[in-house]
Amino acid sequence: MNHPRRGFIKSLAMATVGTSLFGACAPSYPNSSAYVSNPKKLPKVKVSKDRIIKETVGLRPFRQGGPRIEKQELGSKTIVHNYGHGGSGWSLSWGTALIASELVDETKTTKVAVMGCGVVGLSTARTLQKKGYEVTIFTKDSYPNITSAMATGTWSPTSRLVKPDRVTPEFAAMYQKACTHSYKTFQRLLGLNHVVDWMDSYRISNGESRASDYSSELKDKLVTPEVDFYPKGEPLKRKENPFKYSHVSKSPTTIFNIPSYLKMLQDDFLLAGGKIRIKTFQKPEDVDSLPFQCVVNCTGLGAQDIFGDEELMPVSGQLCFLIPQPELNYRANMSGVYFIPRRDGIMLGGNGIDGNWETTPDPEVRDKYLTALEEMMKNLKG
Ligand SMILES: Cc1cc2nc3c(=O)[nH]c(=O)nc-3n(C[C@H](O)[C@H](O)[C@H](O)COP(=O)(O)OP(=O)(O)OC[C@H]3O[C@@H](n4cnc5c(N)ncnc54)[C@H](O)[C@@H]3O)c2cc1C
Repeated sequence: MNHPRRGFIKSLAMATVGTSLFGACAPSYPNSSAYVSNPKKLPKVKVSKDRIIKETVGLRPFRQGGPRIEKQELGSKTIVHNYGHGGSGWSLSWGTALIASELVDETKTTKVAVMGCGVVGLSTARTLQKKGYEVTIFTKDSYPNITSAMATGTWSPTSRLVKPDRVTPEFAAMYQKACTHSYKTFQRLLGLNHVVDWMDSYRISNGESRASDYSSELKDKLVTPEVDFYPKGEPLKRKENPFKYSHVSKSPTTIFNIPSYLKMLQDDFLLAGGKIRIKTFQKPEDVDSLPFQCVVNCTGLGAQDIFGDEELMPVSGQLCFLIPQPELNYRANMSGVYFIPRRDGIMLGGNGIDGNWETTPDPEVRDKYLTALEEMMKNLKG
């Protein structure tokens, strides 16, 4: 059993660690609220190798059959699984948290353990707290050493979510519920210190086909009128087109400012009385030994080792960050490479390698991003 005073000191320590990890408060960012970009002249990204401040390779937790959200009786415990969101974990976080919380409701318990402190674990923990549960998170790592901290952070609910031929009517119904709840929750987070923002997105098509992330095939299967929340991209006429390319479309989209968003979730969780304990699980017996009757498993890729889920596999994604430029208020993508101006840097990304566990950034991928962005900027009018 946990010694109450030791527990208090440990959760206090975590709260302090949280504050120092994330910084005391978010800096102001003068132009980020002006999401509508001037269509005639867009500010340029300064592209050069010496402006790189950070590179990451994150591993998307992908399952061919899609996220696992179900109950399992294990030893003396009820485990509620909520993991395997592929490239859509940020987008669907609140929705699958709601579905997992409804499975917890069936257990008639009041105290719940959540395994994992990524966006899925934190959103699930907050959803349970709002329903009145007393929640303790057990995790081996938190920000910034989690996949959730290495994501792009855009609304992409069909990105590497499930293999298109594995979509069943039940899966489509789950998706519809998760997508709707997430979308509505994100709109309520607008205006809260810019953890969520809207931004114009330019898509430049120069004849090359995009690397497949199942997105377009999945959109046909999953995006019904009920969950088609975003205005369609409009092809731009020559006069409205800020680029010299002839095929450019523009649509507004949502972005998540990941560091401040994760800090907000963790702070809210601790303020509401939640506790965070550092613990590594290796096998189901480690889970069974927790002093909780109900445990929600939000360990992402970690579930492969703990629960032996062989369907889980990593899809690696490399990001490269340039020095922030607060004047940038649009994002763009071309030939599978995108840039997004976030508060913690101008993020360049776009790749995905199935089954790759390697987390060392590849200089060739970085060079490809820089070349593509340079090309985009050379073709900006004005
Ligand atoms: C390059 C890239 C770009 C992406 N872009 C987007 C995007 O634009 N939009 C979008 O919606 N999604 C995006 N994603 C996907 C998204 O990041 C993931 O789906 C999401 O972060 C998964 O969250 P999670 O909480 O399940 O996993 P994680 O963030 O990995 O959290 C898992 C938690 O479990 C803990 N854990 C794991 N194993 C153990 C263990 N054995 N014992 C104890 N604790 C353990 C970890 O420490 C961690 O706290 C992107 C991902 C990548 C890599």
